[in-house]
Amino acid sequence: MPLVYDDLLYVKFNNLAQYKTEITHFISTRIGINDETEFSIGLNGYLPDSEVLRNRNHLAQKFGFHPSEFVFAEQVHGITVERVTPLMRGLGAFDKTNALQYSDAWITNHPNICLVAQAADCVPILFFDPVHRAIGAAHAGWKGTVKRIAANVVRAMCDEFGTQPSDLIVGIGPSAGPCCYEVGDDVISVVESEFPKEYELLIHYPDQQKPVFDLWRANIYTLMEVGVPENNIELAGLCTLCNNHLFFSARCGDRGRFGGAIMLKADNPNGSLLIS
Ligand SMILES: [Zn+2]
Repeated sequence: MPLVYDDLLYVKFNNLAQYKTEITHFISTRIGINDETEFSIGLNGYLPDSEVLRNRNHLAQKFGFHPSEFVFAEQVHGITVERVTPLMRGLGAFDKTNALQYSDAWITNHPNICLVAQAADCVPILFFDPVHRAIGAAHAGWKGTVKRIAANVVRAMCDEFGTQPSDLIVGIGPSAGPCCYEVGDDVISVVESEFPKEYELLIHYPDQQKPVFDLWRANIYTLMEVGVPENNIELAGLCTLCNNHLFFSARCGDRGRFGGAIMLKADNPNGSLLIS
């Protein structure tokens, strides 16, 4: 799970990077073109829209596609998975008023559609089925995590593309980690009811009044429950609070957003790649 710094800082998963001829993927950070600028990719008013669009454009250029191939969603902390078709390409890319409105996870088997899960403590999760050439992305906050949105993505890919869970390659991105993600009674009661006690997802540290909820383990268990092999799941293991200099964190008061993105590359008729 390397952190890469060239003209901007980003994260790649080793397991997904093995398929670089089939997919493009990255996790952006708050470190952008120059260190003076916050590299937010969210059209939420934190940065002027023009700066956000410049940042999105920079990412697209860097990873070899056109910014009109992005698809962004409003994200509503739900568990709806939406299949993205070529007609939806570009929705939310330049204007948040036409972003996808009701979904927090997206799947497609069409090339040149860049799915993006925006985050600032919530967990961005990326999926790739190399057998059926299909991808997915999910935004999993605590609500999406306890309602098992990750499992919904796996089921949707099985239903829509014939995916076998054992083939899926998954990357779990930076988020609030089990070191820092303290939760109150409202979250504790839902975690306790949704996950059996043996999962041990609530951790009580002696020096903290509130327990922490392990979002990473909860999503790993959820994926394993539906048949994704543990060895196919890579955890970035980067806490957005501990690494607040690299990632936006709502708990730290940030309004910026970073993103986990994945896109299928297109083959030309001769089988070689149009986009490298
Ligand atoms: Zn931490």
